[in-house]
Amino acid sequence: MRILIVEDEFKLADVIASRLKKEHYTVDISLDGEEGLYNALTDIYDLIILDVMLPKLNGFELLREIRNKNINSKVIMLTAKTMLDDKLTGFDAGADDYLTKPFHLEELIARINVQLRKKSSKQNTEYIEYGDIKLNIKTSTLTCTNTNEEIDLVCKEFLLLEYLINNSSQIVSKDILYDKVWGFDTSASSNNLEAYISFIRRKIKAIGSSVKIKPIRGLGYKLEVSDEET
Ligand code: CA
Repeated sequence: MRILIVEDEFKLADVIASRLKKEHYTVDISLDGEEGLYNALTDIYDLIILDVMLPKLNGFELLREIRNKNINSKVIMLTAKTMLDDKLTGFDAGADDYLTKPFHLEELIARINVQLRKKSSKQNTEYIEYGDIKLNIKTSTLTCTNTNEEIDLVCKEFLLLEYLINNSSQIVSKDILYDKVWGFDTSASSNNLEAYISFIRRKIKAIGSSVKIKPIRGLGYKLEVSDEET
C-alpha cells in the first residue's frame, strides 16, 4: 500500500518514511502544500499523512481540495497546535484521524494501521482472483487454485499484479503501472517495470498457473489465460 507524507520538516518526514518502509509501505514525501496537492490528486495513495502548517498551501486547504475532487485516501493530520479548534477544522475538512506534535512514532504507525485495515475491511475481500490464480491482498501470497501451490510476492510485484488483476478486462498501459508502483521516484526506469513483470511471470509459472501477462506492443500489458504448455 502507498502512503504520501506532506510535511515541510524534512527530518521528521524522513524518520516517518523510514519507519513506514519497514512496515512494507511504499512512501513518497512532499515538502510543501502545493506539491502535496499535486501528488495527492493522482489518487494513487491509500493514506496521506498531512501536516497542517505548510508553505504555499496549508493542510486544511489541501484536504478540502482533494475531498472536493473526490479523492478518498485516508488522511491523518499532524499539527504542532493543541487547540481544539484545529482538530474540529480538520475533521470538518474530511480528516480521518488527528495527531498532535510531538507524537510517538509508534502511535502514528498504530493509527495508520487502524485506518488502512478499516479501509480494506470495507472492501470486504481478502483475495482477488483471475483465471486460476488467487492473490491474498493481506499477505501478498499468490496461489494457483489448480495446483494449490503458493508463492510470496515482494511489494512491487504485488502492486503490479494487484493492479493487473483489478483491471484484467482491459489493456493496462506501462505508464499507469509505472505511476502505480514507483510514483514520483524518478530513479526507476522502464527497465525496472519489465524486470518486475518477468519476476511475476516466473512466479506465476512456478506455481503451475496458466495465467499469462501478455505484452501488447506499444500499449502495455493484459492478463490472459493460456492453454499452451510453454
Ligand atoms: Ca509544518
